Amino acid sequence: VSDDGGPDRVRWIFAGQLGSLFDDGGGRMLLIEARSVFGRRPMHRAKAHLLLSGIRHRAAELGDRVEFHQVDTYSAVVDGRDDLDVIDPTSYSARRYVRRLGARVLPSRGFVTSESDFALWAGSRGGKRLLLEDFYRSVRQRTGILMEGETPAGGQWNYDVSNRERPPRGAVTLGLPDPWWPEEDEIDAGVREDLDRWQADGLVQLVGLDAPRRFAVTEREANLALDSFIESRLNDFGPFEDATLTNDWTMAHSLLSAPLNLGLLDPLAVVTRVADEYEAGRAPLASVEGFVRQVMGWRDYVWHLYWHLGEDYRGSHNALGAKETLPREFTELDATTITANCLHHSIDGLRQHGWAHHIQRLMVIGNWALQRGYDPVALNDWFTDMFVDGTPWVMPANVIGMSQHADGGIVATKPYSSGGAYINTMTDYCGGCRYNPRVRLGPDACPFTAGYWAFLDRTEPVLAPNFRMKQPLAGLRRLADRGAVVAQEREREGL
Ligand code: SF4
Repeated sequence: VSDDGGPDRVRWIFAGQLGSLFDDGGGRMLLIEARSVFGRRPMHRAKAHLLLSGIRHRAAELGDRVEFHQVDTYSAVVDGRDDLDVIDPTSYSARRYVRRLGARVLPSRGFVTSESDFALWAGSRGGKRLLLEDFYRSVRQRTGILMEGETPAGGQWNYDVSNRERPPRGAVTLGLPDPWWPEEDEIDAGVREDLDRWQADGLVQLVGLDAPRRFAVTEREANLALDSFIESRLNDFGPFEDATLTNDWTMAHSLLSAPLNLGLLDPLAVVTRVADEYEAGRAPLASVEGFVRQVMGWRDYVWHLYWHLGEDYRGSHNALGAKETLPREFTELDATTITANCLHHSIDGLRQHGWAHHIQRLMVIGNWALQRGYDPVALNDWFTDMFVDGTPWVMPANVIGMSQHADGGIVATKPYSSGGAYINTMTDYCGGCRYNPRVRLGPDACPFTAGYWAFLDRTEPVLAPNFRMKQPLAGLRRLADRGAVVAQEREREGL
């Protein structure tokens, strides 16, 4: 039987497999919209909308070729069938399920490197740390992307130092043209009606807004978004990758993570197109390399780590003893009572769009949670459910590892925490805030600055052996007002 099935086979595709990359042409397909998937945990409405709209648009595109079911559970359709082919799905639970059904499983797709490529690379490391940078270089060499023979384009592998410019002084926005926005259609209207009804019937718990839809749900739309990014944002993406402006929610970001994770774009084709812009002299290397590193480096790396670290990784680490329950402001995406301006806008932006960019995720929301010791599994699942690009595979390395250091240093060598000074450098939030990023004690004390010291105080016994924490902990021990700052942060209530 070939990979395109055969007359008696049906390819069952999932919500992360909606593009032609997952269709070998011509064969019969099965798509199932199972409502129970949306009722498992509270979910951002924009995310539920995107998944449903993506599934329904794909069903419409496939026409007669697809068997499309709208049911409560998958089992209503697939139990007892012996004709199913699947491309290996993207979570442990889905992989177990399709194997239990006896489906024929084809190797996964949707990443630049295959799972066997990664296994070979990891095996060749001889027990050394599986560093992102080493992995990224190996993928560059294997694919030839941004390579000039054996050497990296421009002579350097990594232009990260050029990707950290502050927002332009005095600017309210980056001044770029609007990104490409989708035009909603009757399918979106139907999705919205169904979500309203399901919510009214208590079948789902949705938070946040889903109007208007901002992310691509078809391959055609995803390619338009990619074209628009290359045309009007790529050149500014690199320098302002880490910068944030209150009134510019997209900055120069591509907004392609959601369509990539829906399987609407082939990531190798995407990075090839972007690299071609550098080759043609139309885009600066720092921007192109920064984008390629995100898609071909980090995205592939966290995908492979999901499998490499094992299913227990998400729930079996809590190195910093973080046990706090997520506050209502997070779970309900209600920023109205959040006084820290940076957190207020990051949570409210998430409420509006189901998306936030890198610095808002890592240095504002993640940093806040780390400092206050939020339960890492609850936070991981919250990120998965509240972000349009959140998936079970993408969040553990990002949240448990990188952001919360719950794994004690498997993914990142030190906790990703900082005080308000860094946020003040990279954003315009502090100017409009009632706190002062330079102050750690008293009514003006910035909760990130004071929170940083209180976090170090709490975790000092665990972090002391970490060589990279030597300097910050020495700083903590020199603080004359350490006790007062810690007491103040313990007393501060609410957000
Ligand atoms: Fe955030 Fe502190 Fe700046 Fe306010 S002063 S915006 S709380 S970093």
